[in-house]
Amino acid sequence: MKEEITRFAPSPTGHLHIGGARTALFSWLFARSKKGKFLLRFEDTDKERSKKEFEESIISSLSWLGIEPDEKPIYQSKNIKSHQKEALNLLESGKAYSCDCSPEQLSEMREKQIKNKLQPKYDGLNREKNISHKEGNVIRFKMPQSGKTIFEDQILGPITVENRELDDFIILRGDGSPTYNFSAALDDKEMKITTVIRGDDHITNTLKQINILKALEEELPQYAHLPMVLSNSGKRLSKRDGAVDITDYRKGGYLKEAIINYLVKLGWSYSDQEIFSKEELVSLFNLSAVNSSPAKFSEELINFYNNYYLNLLDIKNLYELIDTEYEVSFNIKSNDKYLDILNLVREGAKTVLDLIDQIKFFYEVPSYEEQHKELITSNIEVVKIFSENIENIDFNNQQNLENDLKSFLSSKNLKFPQLGKPLRLILSGRQNAPSISQLLFFLGEEESLKRINFFLD
Ligand code: GLU
Repeated sequence: MKEEITRFAPSPTGHLHIGGARTALFSWLFARSKKGKFLLRFEDTDKERSKKEFEESIISSLSWLGIEPDEKPIYQSKNIKSHQKEALNLLESGKAYSCDCSPEQLSEMREKQIKNKLQPKYDGLNREKNISHKEGNVIRFKMPQSGKTIFEDQILGPITVENRELDDFIILRGDGSPTYNFSAALDDKEMKITTVIRGDDHITNTLKQINILKALEEELPQYAHLPMVLSNSGKRLSKRDGAVDITDYRKGGYLKEAIINYLVKLGWSYSDQEIFSKEELVSLFNLSAVNSSPAKFSEELINFYNNYYLNLLDIKNLYELIDTEYEVSFNIKSNDKYLDILNLVREGAKTVLDLIDQIKFFYEVPSYEEQHKELITSNIEVVKIFSENIENIDFNNQQNLENDLKSFLSSKNLKFPQLGKPLRLILSGRQNAPSISQLLFFLGEEESLKRINFFLD
């Protein structure tokens, strides 16, 4: 059987976006599931907008996610000469034609068509004129004028269009540069792509590219168009919907395992399973299980996955990750119970940044909000009694500490919240921090007393 070859073909005009990352992941998974090859091609012919920094950023985001191409990236811009040659070959063989229509002629044509309620397109004015090609003229592809273009989309099913609806589109511009659809079709042929996986905004391009490949008498690849990823409100996903670039997620403290799991769930499912390892995905992935309607972006789901994987990590590895990838303003290791602290706080943390923020009060005296200060001072009597009895509390053992705390409360006939509320605020600056015994134990006697005395004084 023929080796399966897929590709991801981003234009390096921005960072890797959630939608792009999903396309890359699905192409990669499909190739891996077929023991085939996954290639990367930069569609970088737009000189103005293509930037080296974006190429590097896309490569680094893919590599972070573990979506590695099997060969060095291919640059569309390097193939311009051969694409020009192909356009001239098509011209020579009568499958394309030179056209010297002026912009005025074209807009007149368009207006007339609109007036006559026809779909605007090039009307073939110069199609049969055999104009000899010269600089400044464009080369147009001779689209078949009858019949249909049909393909079986691997996700969306059969797609058919009447050829008379298609345009004699330009393949070589007046300045000699090949157009996108022409180059993309030729590159896919050159790279021996067997399945083209991309967003469904490319369906009209596919129809053009198929006709180019047919004119060249090339075998067609399979096509699989992924429905869009929409925002929660059903619109196109944009920066307003939160982080959309993979670099932002990485910097923001998301784990790659969470991103992969989230991306794959944007359109693909396997019964009602939620959690997938990469190895599992490689063995389970197939295009026929990709949903044919748009996926919805959900911040809640991505946070669910991130929290899940944060809690799955070996705690030492979590520390290493924080230490190597994130800036922390305090020394985590300065508390010898740092692994327990991390373990405790990660339960409720959404991201690594969130986690760092939530352990901060174990290392630095918190800054207290005005309303919290008031709450503390109006309940300070109980805290005072507690501090006077603190020598009865065993700080060396968490279980003992908890029991001592209970004995203290019952001996003074106090209800837990009477002490818990102000003390939690004093120790952590927060209302929803870990339990009092955990706070006292991890902060230690000296630091706890220091924070208590600050209010007593
Ligand atoms: N360069 C196109 C894009 O970034 C991808 C085209 C393709 O995959 O064929 O949307």
